[in-house]
Amino acid sequence: MTLSPTLTFNDGHTIPQLGYGVWQVEDGVAEKVVRQAFEAGFRHIDTARIYGNEAGVGRAIAGSGLTPDEIFITTKLWNADQGYEPTLAAFEESLDRLGLEKLDLYLIHWMQPQQDKYVDTWRALIELQKRGRVKSIGVSNFTAKGIQRLIDETGVVPAIHQIELHPYFSQQELRDFGREKGILTQAWSPLGQGGALLEDPAVAAVAAKHHATPAQVVIAWHLAIGNVVIPKSVTESRIQENYAALDITFDEDDVQAINRLDRTAAGGGRIGPDPAVSDFA
Ligand code: NAD
Repeated sequence: MTLSPTLTFNDGHTIPQLGYGVWQVEDGVAEKVVRQAFEAGFRHIDTARIYGNEAGVGRAIAGSGLTPDEIFITTKLWNADQGYEPTLAAFEESLDRLGLEKLDLYLIHWMQPQQDKYVDTWRALIELQKRGRVKSIGVSNFTAKGIQRLIDETGVVPAIHQIELHPYFSQQELRDFGREKGILTQAWSPLGQGGALLEDPAVAAVAAKHHATPAQVVIAWHLAIGNVVIPKSVTESRIQENYAALDITFDEDDVQAINRLDRTAAGGGRIGPDPAVSDFA
């Protein structure tokens, strides 16, 4: 079985470039679909406190027969738990639910600019890394300015930034910022949540050329431009199909064809909330 390529963080640890996300997967279902993802070849799972399925993910890990060294697990600190002490406590609760001794990657889920606790929260993540509780630390849904503030006030550069990113919303500026700072970019809703993107004629044309499916082409584009990518599906055949995107060899023409779909200049493309202004509990 093909194993995902890995990318190296600025802290020296590595992450499998292709992972499996479990947003909107009920806890009772998570165990089954994560087991199917492991069987398909995925070794990197992306969950979060707020998804309510860390325990289900943990049961799948426990039953997988895979060792901690063979898998890569991410979870995220929820908005209501921001602040130094609450973060330390929330981390331990997440780890308990996952049934893990140590985590691979912990992310601040949203910047929450109005709360303005993200620097203290980041200091707690730095402390957890120092204590050896988590290998790598990063952020999700930040602005470049917010990340720069973390760096300026703590001297610690996040390993990764997880953001909404798909061909209709390609986040060129944040990707460039990440490259300058040595921060990997991770794409959430990488398939555009399975909507119109997967029916786009430009995607279909590249798919026909490679005898692949539209979802595989979009995943192959993410891999080709250097994103870490975490597509979600609860359908076993699609989980396998998404993993098999690793076998597609994208050329520069394919990348350009998909790059042209970006709608940012026209003011569109974004599906989810804008981190610069979003504050929710
Ligand atoms: P996605 O872009 O991965 O789309 C998932 C949907 O696409 C599925 O529900 C299904 O309808 C469709 N789909 C999947 N595979 C398909 C296939 N092979 N063929 C046809 N349709 C297919 O959307 P997502 O779940 O929003 O994002 C993926 C992951 O990113 C999440 O599960 C979560 O782990 C993460 N995420 C993080 C944040 C954040 O704030 N950090 C926000 C959203 C998602």
